[in-house]
Amino acid sequence: MAVSKRTKLAVLARDNYVCVIAGLNCVGVATVVDHRANRGSGGSTVLDAPENLIACCPLCNGGKEDADGAYRAELVARGIRNATTAVEHMTTIGAITTGKGWAY
Ligand SMILES: [Zn+2]
Repeated sequence: MAVSKRTKLAVLARDNYVCVIAGLNCVGVATVVDHRANRGSGGSTVLDAPENLIACCPLCNGGKEDADGAYRAELVARGIRNATTAVEHMTTIGAITTGKGWAY
């Protein structure tokens, strides 16, 4: 399921159009949203909930997929790249309450 335009705009506004992946070091303006956890890690529509989406610029979004080594570790530490971290985050904020809808 694709992220709706309304959800995308809400996420961009929530994150202040700041690229969350690179944070303040990023020179790009966030114009796209991406999943904290890869869609391939789950497969449920809950992945498209705003709580699991972050604003980012196209450049960083592309780089995230190729992240490895220290950069990947940094993303995991910030809860962006690693699916397990994203699930913990979503559970904490109440986005996941039943355990259903998230298939591993
Ligand atoms: Zn960026």
